[in-house]
Amino acid sequence: MSFLKFQADNIFTGTEMLDSSKVLITSHHGIIEDIVDEKDAGENVQKFKGIISPGFINCHCHLELSHLKGVIPEQTGMVDFILNIMQNRASTEELILDAIEKAEEEMIANGIVAVGDICNTTNTINQKMKAKLYYHNFIEISGFVPQAAQQRFDAGLEVYNQFVNFFPNNTTLVPHAPYSVSKNLFKLIGDISENKISSMHNQESEEENLFFEQGCGDFERLYKTLGIDISFFKSKNNSSLASVLEHLNKAQNTILVHNTFTSQSDIELLNSFSKKTKTQFYFCLCVLANRYITNSFPSKVLFNKNLSNIVLGTDSLASNHTLNLLSEIGVMKNAFPFLSQIELLQFATFNGALALGIEDKYGSFKRGKQPGIILIEDLFNSKKSKVLFQNKII
Ligand SMILES: [Zn+2]
Repeated sequence: MSFLKFQADNIFTGTEMLDSSKVLITSHHGIIEDIVDEKDAGENVQKFKGIISPGFINCHCHLELSHLKGVIPEQTGMVDFILNIMQNRASTEELILDAIEKAEEEMIANGIVAVGDICNTTNTINQKMKAKLYYHNFIEISGFVPQAAQQRFDAGLEVYNQFVNFFPNNTTLVPHAPYSVSKNLFKLIGDISENKISSMHNQESEEENLFFEQGCGDFERLYKTLGIDISFFKSKNNSSLASVLEHLNKAQNTILVHNTFTSQSDIELLNSFSKKTKTQFYFCLCVLANRYITNSFPSKVLFNKNLSNIVLGTDSLASNHTLNLLSEIGVMKNAFPFLSQIELLQFATFNGALALGIEDKYGSFKRGKQPGIILIEDLFNSKKSKVLFQNKII
């Protein structure tokens, strides 16, 4: 059996940065065999400039919204962004499917091998059947009016069942966000997601917390515009996350997405809740989408003790100009200069694989895994990367 051998300025293993004296050895299918000293590597070693890394894990995307690239105005704030999405998301099937295919090609070219993808429709099933990337399909349900819970759940279940036909092991039902899911609906979703991988948009805007803490602000305008009677809602002086946390007690992992206005006390609450339940929480950061929608970044308190819980996402092309984790890493480095190369790369690889429950195959260069192999020529220049070896998924 012959092997492929890769050497570069550095090999990033998923958790460690090795120097140029090491050689990565894989099978012809990209299955990791070993990392050895140069002197033991033998012949036919391919040499590169830059960092060789496991393929990237994009923990948050909405592939089905790819046709909205460049459509939604920037920095309008959360409520107008939501309203704009609702008004603009309809399109022809041809345009939607074409945009999905192109967006996937973009992710592949940018070294992404696995995606946590939010689905409200079945539009992405055909593309995903081609198995060019690994997807975890988060079938998202929303419905803030308690009386509508069963009806909204049943509608989500229909989409879910269609995905489960093709992707039984990597499809779960998930809540949209604290402000769009009623207690009754949280319960229905929680029951079916027991011990699975879950996700929820969390504290993406200041207004979200304001609504839960004081019952006022721009979210009142959202419900009014949508014709939703929220007279049942009572604010309790708690953040949005604190208000719904009790409903997030059943999943194995829950990926909280954005966390732009998550505070130190939210994190402490989450840590103690996590110890009481079996749920492991991950913070997925999507800084380019934050800049696009609210022009604000998460607080640096997120990085205090949580470095093993941070993962990255691109969000969709409705709120981002590109689906590229290197672009996210570049902006992260500017916003949070104290983060090291190793930490940033671990967010994009090893941590992401853990969050999606796919660490047995992805996210690191451990023997037997098949994580995809990418070359990053310049970590803080997103145009300088290429895929050396893309996974054959099946
Ligand atoms: Zn999103």
